[in-house]
Amino acid sequence: MSYKNFPMVSNVMFGRGSFNQLEDILAPKRINTKAPFIFLVDDVFRSNVWITSRIPLAYDDRIIFVSAKEEPKTEQVDALVEEIILMTKERPSGIIGIGGGTIMDIAKAISIMLTNKGDAKDYQGWDLVKNEAVFHVGIPTISGTGAEVSRTAVLTGPDKKLGINSDFTPFDQVILDSELTKDVPKDQWFYTGMDCYIHCIESLKGTYINTFSETFGEMALKLCKEVFLEGELSSEEAQEKLMMASWHGGMSIVYSQVGVAHALSYGLSYLLGTKHGIGNCIVFDQLEEFYPEGVRMFKAMKEKHNIKLPQGICADLSDRDFDIMIKISLSLDPLWENALGPDWKKIMTPEKIKSLYQKM
Ligand code: NAD
Ligand code: ZN
Repeated sequence: MSYKNFPMVSNVMFGRGSFNQLEDILAPKRINTKAPFIFLVDDVFRSNVWITSRIPLAYDDRIIFVSAKEEPKTEQVDALVEEIILMTKERPSGIIGIGGGTIMDIAKAISIMLTNKGDAKDYQGWDLVKNEAVFHVGIPTISGTGAEVSRTAVLTGPDKKLGINSDFTPFDQVILDSELTKDVPKDQWFYTGMDCYIHCIESLKGTYINTFSETFGEMALKLCKEVFLEGELSSEEAQEKLMMASWHGGMSIVYSQVGVAHALSYGLSYLLGTKHGIGNCIVFDQLEEFYPEGVRMFKAMKEKHNIKLPQGICADLSDRDFDIMIKISLSLDPLWENALGPDWKKIMTPEKIKSLYQKM
């Protein structure tokens, strides 16, 4: 048996208002006055002075507002890298992502592409990155994906949706300030929060489960239940607990894998552009056969928060469309193997996948 040796986020700061200490964190990391910090900020905060006025700009530092309307693309990363190279005199001292999973993955990918030749698409896969990334910081403003702690930067490329999984991907620094999540719209709070819940179920019910993943997964699941089912928390407590659930849920999949919901949701995202959180919810709602207890609890949470998921998103698709989604989904071998074991191909045939998509 050869065990994997995973890197982790090396520094983390936690606490409401900790965002105010960003300047102290960055100052010692400035290489020189010509090597700026680049802040990639979700453009939902463009006119949010409460956030932007606290971004500590000095010398040639820049804010680039990035839209999170669509999931991150490899070409988008390449274009941003080009823009940063053109606007800076020297390689940046650091890249700081302020936003949800979308912005955090873009920040991770850019920090890698600033020190590695070629296009972002060349690095989609496992351990293809050769050079250490630029110093990069993740500051989540919505909780659930675990992107703040994971070893991947998920991107949609010309022919696949797949992460840049590497030892250089994890953030060097994360700031967990739950106050930044206070204005997340309710539906989005639910969808991204359920991404965390689904990570837990897929990890805990998977065949790759081990004590490392189980302990993180159980903690995250307990926190999700407190936040989404039990409902006796103040909003501050709920924001803090969901932020830590996201962290633990992310840690749980470091040493295991996600499963059926993610494998099917990647197909929806690739063909229809369905975003990760809502896509996972639409899929998970139909997976009682694979995760009976998990889906029952999910339905109870949905009911409690009065969430109405879109119906019939696959109703008008052609056979060719289904084939594209099936191909994307079936290419995710580790997810299927984790979910269904080594003989997964006998269970998850193209016909079976199609019948699941047809319910959505
Ligand atoms: P997101 O980053 O796309 O954000 C969702 C929406 O919430 C956006 O409209 C955004 O503008 C808005 N938003 C974010 N913070 C807000 C705030 N504080 N107030 C108001 N609005 C706010 O959503 P997400 O669910 O966090 O991330 C999804 C992405 O994460 C997908 O691209 C997915 O592939 C990726 N992902 C990555 C990992 C990983 O390990 N790297 C894991 C899971 C998902
Ligand atoms: Zn996910």
